[in-house]
Amino acid sequence: MYYVDSHCHLNLKKFSKVAEASSSGDYSIDAIVERAKNAGVEYILNIGTELSDIEEMQSISMSYDNVFHTIGIHPLEAQKHHQQYSLDEISRIIKANCNDEKCVGIGEIGLDYYYTKESAKEQKELFELQLANVTLDPVTASLPSETYARCTCNNIFVRHPEERSDVGIQNNIDSTHASKSALAYNEDGGEAINASQARTAVCVHSREAEEDTIAILRNHPGVTGVIHCFSGSKEFAFQALDLGFYISISGVVTFKSNVALQEIVKSIPLDRLLVETDAPFLAPTPFRGKVNEPAFMVHTAKKIAELLGVTADEISSQTSENFFNLYPRAKKFRRYIVQNPVF
Ligand SMILES: [Zn+2]
Repeated sequence: MYYVDSHCHLNLKKFSKVAEASSSGDYSIDAIVERAKNAGVEYILNIGTELSDIEEMQSISMSYDNVFHTIGIHPLEAQKHHQQYSLDEISRIIKANCNDEKCVGIGEIGLDYYYTKESAKEQKELFELQLANVTLDPVTASLPSETYARCTCNNIFVRHPEERSDVGIQNNIDSTHASKSALAYNEDGGEAINASQARTAVCVHSREAEEDTIAILRNHPGVTGVIHCFSGSKEFAFQALDLGFYISISGVVTFKSNVALQEIVKSIPLDRLLVETDAPFLAPTPFRGKVNEPAFMVHTAKKIAELLGVTADEISSQTSENFFNLYPRAKKFRRYIVQNPVF
């Protein structure tokens, strides 16, 4: 049994800044990842918030087998990026870095009218731009919806049901190599995944901006993702679910007073739920007010299990499965690969 922290900010500067201000202890990434593992939080998704983070995110992902990252511009950073970069430059930087093998998605992106309503225009513009970059991903943009496989040589093959042949669609592979690799895939346990789930997913931050968030997401059909640290209305949750999105629950669900969110959690299908810390922020009870870290996620998961009347085991296995379905690029690094190839 293990958990996945689907959203945190391991970025050292941010973490240590909060840590210094509020408590003592070892907040090196080594120590944080180690404590997470000891607590059963086996995988961690480190979420980007600005373009200047990217290099550091990549190097953290390189250092730990069990850490992935996303890249993107947080809505609270929208104005700053607007001043520093042209829209073309932003697209270029995202495109150049989103196919890094441990970059599993774009995020966090979205709208925040709670803190920075005055930059709503810039936020919307960047949200749209980053969503557009998801569909521009050269590997996934052209994928049809047939089942395909990523073989261990990291090429992607599509199976055309009528032709009964496997066609390499990446790196201009000729069909001979394609069928050879499909065979190799069979033998060495590469993984079959569904094309509709293989697109880069987005991690969406939305605060007091439900209507605009949904309206913009509807402009980008086919983009899947997650509404992270969900704190909205039931209606918003259902609209997001209808768009195929997952809902991620943070430690705020453990706060006694948060009855509204606890009620919403009960109505979200278990196969669309994710759990996160949003560390170093929002530590769950009994650590409320302290510096949050991935190891604390277990308390959030237990609370969700209690609300849904299921076991912690069920929460751990289903939410981990959900994570790898939403971010299929992470599957390659999963220790326990499903051995059920379709070819
Ligand atoms: Zn976050």
